[in-house]
Amino acid sequence: MTNKILILGSGTSTGIPIPGCYCEVCQSANPKNKRLRTSIILKFKNDDKKGHPEKTLLVDTTPDLRQGLLNHKINKVDATIITHTHADHLHGIDDLRPLCFGPPARTIPVYIHSKDKKDLIQRFPYIFDNSQQKPQIGGGIPLLDLKTVDTNGPLSLLGRPFDFFLLPHGHGQTLGFCQGKFAYLIDCHDIPQQVLEFLKKRKLDFLIMDCVCLKPHKTHLNVEKAFSFIKEISPKRAGLIHMGHEIDHDVLQKMAENSFDFPVFPLSDSMVLEYCDE
Ligand SMILES: [Zn+2]
Ligand SMILES: [Zn+2]
Ligand SMILES: [Zn+2]
Repeated sequence: MTNKILILGSGTSTGIPIPGCYCEVCQSANPKNKRLRTSIILKFKNDDKKGHPEKTLLVDTTPDLRQGLLNHKINKVDATIITHTHADHLHGIDDLRPLCFGPPARTIPVYIHSKDKKDLIQRFPYIFDNSQQKPQIGGGIPLLDLKTVDTNGPLSLLGRPFDFFLLPHGHGQTLGFCQGKFAYLIDCHDIPQQVLEFLKKRKLDFLIMDCVCLKPHKTHLNVEKAFSFIKEISPKRAGLIHMGHEIDHDVLQKMAENSFDFPVFPLSDSMVLEYCDE
């Protein structure tokens, strides 16, 4: 079965252009060098004959979530995964509000690794702390149902099997996942051997990989490391994401063309791609 991947944002934590920066990439006229914060949506056909024909899974609620939803004309989200609690992946969570109100009102499940649950509740007590009385202030609060995931084997989300794994990200960890023949690995400075073996065996159709800058980086993969992991995993195609302003889209495109004999390319905002899940 074919599923869709929508790129809501492909940029690093500041987004590109960075306010106040006059470097070539930030000043570039190429629309592919304009990057919202990194987030994607997966769209699956609804196997259930009733209801909307597609299921929509959002990965991360960035501070640019509203613009990303508008760019892709998204009017419903059926579930959300939060990869980790860094501001650039989480702080737009309030923008889910209009998708909850209806009518009819909908509660969106939010999946997060158990290690991040406490941090999420502390950061957004007015949404997640059920011990607090929730006053209806102004436009209200998003209706979100917090669910935790672990890394012990597949879990069903929206009727599809997901394998989750933790990736080292500086002093913390990020949640990566594999759905069918698609894997999403962002905000990591390394990939554990066990995860590499799992992904190689899966014979991926499409892989999205962290690729933040040219020089080595303490908390992310740089171009060289991203390329070497893509070679090792050897998917049919791979997309690079979370790029900072050291990276010009066309330059990275050329570097990838010169390094691989299968399609590897920088992703850009508003792209729509497909992958097979079997
Ligand atoms: Zn990030
Ligand atoms: Zn810049
Ligand atoms: Zn991060």
